[in-house]
Formats: sequence, C-alpha cells, structure tokens
Amino acid sequence: MIVDHDFDDYRQRRVLVMGLGSFGGGIGAVKFLVSRGALVTVTDLRPIEKLTDSLAELKETPPDRLVLGGHDQNDFRSADLIVVSPAVKRDCPFLNEAISAGVPITSEMNLFWKWNRAKVVAVTGSNGKSTTTAMTYSIIEKFLQRQPGRRAWLGGNIGTSLLPVVDQIQQNDIVVLELSSFQLADLNRLQLSPHVAVVTNFAPNHLDWHVDLDDYRRAKQTILRWQTPQDTAILNADDIDVTNWPVHSRRLEFGLDHSGRQGVFFENRQAVVRINGCDERWPVMDWLKLPGRHNIANALAAIAASISVGADVESVKQGIENYQPLPHRLQFIAEVAGRRFYNDSLATTPESAEVALLAFDAPIVLLAGGYDKHVDLSHMAAAIARQAKAVSLMGQTAVSLREMINSNESHTCDISLPQTSFVAAFDWAVEHSAPGDVVLLSPGCASYDWFRNFADRGAQFAELVRQYAAGQS
Ligand code: ADP
Repeated sequence: MIVDHDFDDYRQRRVLVMGLGSFGGGIGAVKFLVSRGALVTVTDLRPIEKLTDSLAELKETPPDRLVLGGHDQNDFRSADLIVVSPAVKRDCPFLNEAISAGVPITSEMNLFWKWNRAKVVAVTGSNGKSTTTAMTYSIIEKFLQRQPGRRAWLGGNIGTSLLPVVDQIQQNDIVVLELSSFQLADLNRLQLSPHVAVVTNFAPNHLDWHVDLDDYRRAKQTILRWQTPQDTAILNADDIDVTNWPVHSRRLEFGLDHSGRQGVFFENRQAVVRINGCDERWPVMDWLKLPGRHNIANALAAIAASISVGADVESVKQGIENYQPLPHRLQFIAEVAGRRFYNDSLATTPESAEVALLAFDAPIVLLAGGYDKHVDLSHMAAAIARQAKAVSLMGQTAVSLREMINSNESHTCDISLPQTSFVAAFDWAVEHSAPGDVVLLSPGCASYDWFRNFADRGAQFAELVRQYAAGQS
C-alpha cells in the first residue's frame, strides 16, 4: 500500500523526484523541496538532452543529483520520500521496490494540498477542464480584485505549479485548480476534496493508465468523495453518468439541455441562474466569444463555481468578456487563400474532436488520428463521416479510423490513406480544401506517436500554416 509522508521538516531529507517532465509539476516540486532544505535527486527516463528546458528552470534551485536516461533501483530504496510524476503508473516496479521498503510516496499536487491554506475551487472531467478552470479563474480574479488583500491563484494540471509559491497564498485567497484523474487518484490518499468541486463531464479516457473505466471513474469521484455539507458540488446535468455520482455537499448543476432546481442553466440563449435563492437571467451569449456549444457549457460551469465563492454578476460578466482563449483549443491561426485554419491540438479525446466538428458552419477539412489510447473511436468516426468534407488521417489510429469512417453508409467524406508524416497530412488537407472552408487540426487522439506532445503538434501546425501563407504571397 502506498503511504504519503507525515513529516513537515524537509531539511536533509533525501527526496527522490521521479519524472521531471516539461509541464511544471516536477519542476515545481524540486523548487519547493530545495528551498526547504531537502537533498533532492531528480530521476527521469529521458536523457539530459531532452530535459534542457526543464533543467534551465532549476538554475536557482538546483537539485543535488541527477539520474537521467533511466532510474537506479537503489535511489528508490534509500529515499526518505519519493515525489512521483502523475504520469507514472503506480504499480511500476521501481515504486513497488520503494513501497516494500516502506518509503512514503507523494506527488507535487499532494504536497501543494498539504501546505495550502486557502479555499480551493477545483475542476475535473474528461473534456473542457482547462477551459472551465481558466474561465472560473478569470471571473474569480475580477471578483477578488475588488476585495483588498485577497487574490486568486491558478494552477494544477493546466500547467502551472503553485507549490513554489504556496507560502505566499493567504488563507482568504482563492485557489482555482484543474485536477486530472491521476492527480485525484493521489489526492484520495490524503482523504481531501476541494471546497468547490466542478465535474465537467465523464467519458472513457486514459484507459492506458487506469485499470478500467471504473478505476478512472473512482479516481475522478475523489473530487466529491471527501467533501462535507459546507462544500459545494457542481455537476453537469446533461451527463447521465455524472448526475449519478454520490454527493455529500450542497449540490448545484449546470446544463445546456437539462435544467435542474439549483444551478446555472441555458434557456433561450440566456444563463438562468438559480443559486442562493436568486433566480435571474444573464445574457451570457453577449459576453462569450468562444466558438462551439461546448464552450457555453464550460461558461455555465464557471459561472456556478464562481458564484459559489461569492462572485457577483459584474465580475461574471467581466471575467467572461475578458477571457483569453487558451492556445491549442479551437484556436484561430490564420486565414490563407480563403481557408480558415484552426488549431485544436488539445482535442486528444474523441468527444473533443466531435464538439469541434459541430462548432463551424463552413465545410471542414479535418486532420485527425494519432497515438492509440485504446478508447472507442467509433462515435468520432461517425461524426467525421457526417460532418467533415474531407479527413486527412494520421498516426497509429489512422487505419482503424479509416475503416470505421467507411463503415458509415452513404457518407460523402473524402478520406485520405494513412499519412506517413505530418507535412504530408497537412498538404493533403490543403489540397482537398477550397476557399470558404475551415482546415481544422482536431485529432481526437493523443500526439505521442509523432510529436513530443500536443503543444508540439499545435506549434508544428501553426508553422505549416505560416509556410503555406508564405508560399501564397
Ligand atoms: P481538458 O483540459 O479537459 O483537456 P480543454 O479545455 O483543454 O479540456 O479542451 C481540450 C479539448 O476539448 C479542446 O479541443 C476543446 O475544444 C474541447 N472541449 C472543451 N470543452 C469541452 C466540453 N465541454 N466537451 C467536450 N469537448 C470540449
């Protein structure tokens, strides 16, 4: 059984940080632990050349030792504490070694929870987590700007580690976190849940990491599991799975199609707000600039979350109006030769590619496919067959996607053969597009087979668009 640590003084403790990563978690943990006097060893499967950017961020708080390009079993037995990256499977042989030696195991997020004193609003779900989290933060930030001495903080899976600044976060501040299922699985060991918990939706995902769908659901449900009646749960009324999750706190809902008793619902293009005895209609569509119905759902969830911590209508309005879209999520790149190019590289799940296909009125030439996470892509294939004018297929899932799209009778979608490179996939998409079309990168799959990560995939797409534009002028 994995146990977390019960000591508060890190001085001279031998702490092994497993997985430095590129998204802030490992780096945040090292910064925090070094500044608290721990003797930190960083170990990562990747060689030093692949970690130069991450290591550069540690110039001022360098770890004691680096064990890169592989792990040393001895480090796992002799540590006083191991901080594991969320992506590492908890039954990996190195961790089993540590567990049998009685070494406590924690994570960057668990360390944050141990030391944070402020109220936490947290968002999880299978899709829309980052957008909902960032929008909630945008509103709460506006709200707290009017309250002297208080401020909002944004962190978690969205890519910012708050651990290095945890001592600056005051009890009256509000922390807005995006939590992944991996982070929630760890949090369960601390028996903690946030004050305000938002569940955007639930669909099969990450089945390469979780044992099965129930394991994934149980991990996600940690966000509600340890709540008390003083806390608030905000659930998606349109999601029949989520609406059945056990709630131990005040229950609010948000819904595009279904209305509930308490919460924020979409009726006649307005947000109907029924919380704390109020019953009002707000013109949310005048405030929101993001494309796609799914983003209205994200906004409703963000409104419910921010009202739960006291935000008023003016803060909600300003927070949504001033919301800056996150990159790689239906991000407009450029219009070239009459074609509009959109980067939705973060569509790593089939549902997100499906909602992207619904977000435009124009004909869509899609770039889809990627790393195989062993999730069912048949709905996405059906959506492509229905909605796309043409699809350029990439990566490990290309062959099976092609078969699944073709199994939809009488579709008119032009389907490429599995492409051998991203450049070839892009060129095919451009050749099959016409002025007035949208060329959309929304792969519905993860990127790890051809790219370093989703950001790399999105950046390469933007670069190809730039080159195409240069060739046109
Ligand atoms: P997450 O953090 O859960 O990955 P993001 O907000 O980063 O979610 O969005 C990731 C992808 O999912 C993007 O392609 C986006 O367009 C799509 N998406 C955003 N919100 C939703 C939603 N509510 N339902 C389905 N897909 C969504």
